[in-house]
Amino acid sequence: MRYSALKVFKEAMTGHKGWEPVWREPEPKAEYDVIVIGGGGHGLATAYYLAKEFGITNVAVLEKGWIGGGNVGRNTTIIRSNYLLPGNTPFYELSMKLWENLEQDFNYNAMVSQRGVMNLYHSDAQRDAYVRRGNAMIMAGVDAELLNREQLQKECPFLDFDNARFPIMGALAQRRGGSVRHDAVAWGYARGADSRGVDIIQNCEVNGFVMDKGVCKGVTTNRGTIKAKKIAVCVAGSSGKVMSYAGMRLPIESHVLQAFVSEGLKPVIPGVLTFGAGHFYVSQSDKGGLVFGGDIDGYNTYAQRGNLPVVEDVCEGGMALMPMIGRARLLRMWGGVMDMSMDGSPFIDKTGIDGLYFNGGWCYGGFKATPASGFCYAHLIAKDQPHEFAQELRLDRFMRGHLIDEKGVGAQPNLH
Ligand SMILES: Cc1cc2nc3c(=O)[nH]c(=O)nc-3n(C[C@H](O)[C@H](O)[C@H](O)COP(=O)(O)OP(=O)(O)OC[C@H]3O[C@@H](n4cnc5c(N)ncnc54)[C@H](O)[C@@H]3O)c2cc1C
Repeated sequence: MRYSALKVFKEAMTGHKGWEPVWREPEPKAEYDVIVIGGGGHGLATAYYLAKEFGITNVAVLEKGWIGGGNVGRNTTIIRSNYLLPGNTPFYELSMKLWENLEQDFNYNAMVSQRGVMNLYHSDAQRDAYVRRGNAMIMAGVDAELLNREQLQKECPFLDFDNARFPIMGALAQRRGGSVRHDAVAWGYARGADSRGVDIIQNCEVNGFVMDKGVCKGVTTNRGTIKAKKIAVCVAGSSGKVMSYAGMRLPIESHVLQAFVSEGLKPVIPGVLTFGAGHFYVSQSDKGGLVFGGDIDGYNTYAQRGNLPVVEDVCEGGMALMPMIGRARLLRMWGGVMDMSMDGSPFIDKTGIDGLYFNGGWCYGGFKATPASGFCYAHLIAKDQPHEFAQELRLDRFMRGHLIDEKGVGAQPNLH
């Protein structure tokens, strides 16, 4: 079923009886060409592009919970491609370009809103670092703009420019950045993949791999054994756990990150703002809630819930940036499990085991990567060759010494 203004009008006139389920609920088959483990944004996007770009439709997405229950439905919805390093920039810019055409592509309203991302700077040194990043972005064909204090003040008069400790001097802006309704991305990709023949199987937890003479030939699940020619792991925060079933240890730690939403307010924040003197980022949803977050809790866990000290820390960041936030009531908060890699960059690669592929290590930033991750992972699975924009996102980069350490903090996964 195609969605259109005409269809909405017709349904409104006929009692909304013609809407169909957005995807089927098939029973798992005994065998597929490709199994994607994990029905998050990346797994669903992978299945969608496998079917759409490479004609591989005998695919199952196995999800242990429900579609949208993982980080794809828990993040703070920010998209951007304002990266510095060559290993990252083309990949995230590919993602941005795919976001720009996504709703037309999968015929679903994902509320892609390019309202701009502004990284605030608070010192001369930080401004110089942003100038460097902005120049690198422009040289890579990405939009970037440096705003001084007066220019920023016109757009965001509510910020505390005279904070004695963290005076705001300006911002590095990426106007094409913004936000996207996170769970609509999962639903849109699920619908697009399903309509092309992909089986999306919820409540199906993978608990082992079927190995035959060192080749991965399927998975064992709580709904039985399912065979496949290729198995693509895409489980974000559960990466370490699932890959341990294949005997692999990853350069990844799992940490909890929290998100917060305030009560609905009149439109006040024009785009996404990030506080350069601490760790705080905020935007405003179309319903009016301030959506914000900060640091991870800082210890290893698989629990999707956070702790109060980080709530205080995040809210302090908010108060330092825009004191008016202290008048808003906090409505909801939740946690998600982050797959933090040792250099802060992800992996899209074959493993040392034939038939087994791995996608993970997305840290804080995997939502914005969803379209490019799915596209490049599908390319790898279909052609057994990395996509040109994901060539650096390999598992052996630590061995080769080719780290992609955007923040320059080294092997400190909790700091990336
Ligand atoms: C609070 C928070 C805020 C964030 N903010 C941003 C942001 O603003 N911008 C940004 O770019 N990124 C952000 N992120 C990061 C981003 O959400 C993640 O990097 C990204 O969603 C991970 O990819 P995914 O969507 O595929 O993950 P998920 O949605 O977590 O998908 C993985 C799926 O695998 C399933 N799974 C796990 N184990 C198994 C198993 N054994 N068998 C079957 N299925 C299994 C899980 O149930 C889950 O549904 C944020 C994350 C959090 C938690």
